Amino acid sequence: MARTNQTTQPSMSINQILTVIDNTQSIVNTVLPGSDSVAATQNPAITTNLSVVAPIPASNINSNDSTQVPMFNVNSSMQDRPSNLNFSDSTQVPLFNAMDKASVEGLIFIEGSGPTYATETTFQESLIAAGAGISLVDSVVAASRIRQSPPLGFALIRPPGHHAIPKGPMGFCVFGNVAVAARHAQRAHGLKRVFIIDFDVHHGNGTCDAFYDDPDIFFLSTHQDGSYPGTGKIDEVGHGRGEGATLNLPLPGGSGDSAMRSVFEEVIVPCAQRFKPDIILVSAGYDGHVLDPLASLQFTTNTYYMLASNIKQLARELCGGRCVFFLEGGYNLQSLSYSVADSFRAFLGERSSSSQFDDPAILYEEPSAKVKQAIQRIKYIHSL
Ligand SMILES: [Zn+2]
Repeated sequence: MARTNQTTQPSMSINQILTVIDNTQSIVNTVLPGSDSVAATQNPAITTNLSVVAPIPASNINSNDSTQVPMFNVNSSMQDRPSNLNFSDSTQVPLFNAMDKASVEGLIFIEGSGPTYATETTFQESLIAAGAGISLVDSVVAASRIRQSPPLGFALIRPPGHHAIPKGPMGFCVFGNVAVAARHAQRAHGLKRVFIIDFDVHHGNGTCDAFYDDPDIFFLSTHQDGSYPGTGKIDEVGHGRGEGATLNLPLPGGSGDSAMRSVFEEVIVPCAQRFKPDIILVSAGYDGHVLDPLASLQFTTNTYYMLASNIKQLARELCGGRCVFFLEGGYNLQSLSYSVADSFRAFLGERSSSSQFDDPAILYEEPSAKVKQAIQRIKYIHSL
């Protein structure tokens, strides 16, 4: 593998990032009256691929109810990327093979970041990703002042953020997008208590680290036991004043829809009800899908519809509907696109289209005894 030992930029504190974003963004906060969903998009990195891959393009979702936030002046464009970085072609080949090939053509491997790649435009794009979350928090909070059921936000961004640690990039992530948005919600809007749900298949170690001793930011992560980066054990519950405000639930490989429904009802709901959040932020990773090549959970498109629908309901019950989703992982572009589209349907109150994509024949029996055991243990540890 051709690797250069360059780093993009020195690491920055959240305050520095906020300052840089303040200085560079031209964010337009737009929420259409009557809309039930706001999408933050910038470069077409994700959206283009979604429309190419998805048999049901996003444009078919009731466009009267949905609007994209035209929000950023982007100095660089995706056209600047190496021409071979075509993610729609990589759906059928292992992710790392595609990245190896791209690295020969000029991608930079950020040493020690386990593993994170970059181009010359990545730093700018990473600021935009973090800024998208800030913009959506602003939009959703503003809407919640005038509506009982404000639109949810969904930051369709790359790079993702939940592995980025306070001192630097990690695991395809440059800045902790959710962590930045959480602090912004507190400082700019006085929303003291932030509840973060991370259902990516990997542990959100960066977000976890950032708030491990913070009693006002609850971090709840479900992830596949033993997956990257190896953190997020069930007994990692926070530290000092933050003890109890971190919940890590590793799920056994093979866990699927049934497991996640139980986790939602028995763990996520009571935990959120007890915490009484002012806003809910979601690290929405779609790599727990049964078709995803990087993990071995068995979530389906319908699992993600259920999660989006239930989290929306939870936000309405607990915090005036204030809720922002952030795209994290997802490496099979078909299951990613269907699942994200179905999440939007849940936001909009439309029926799921998951039956057009999900194939029950490829599922195998879930390890229900192990799942039940894990749920009982976490309920005991957190007195749920
Ligand atoms: Zn992931």
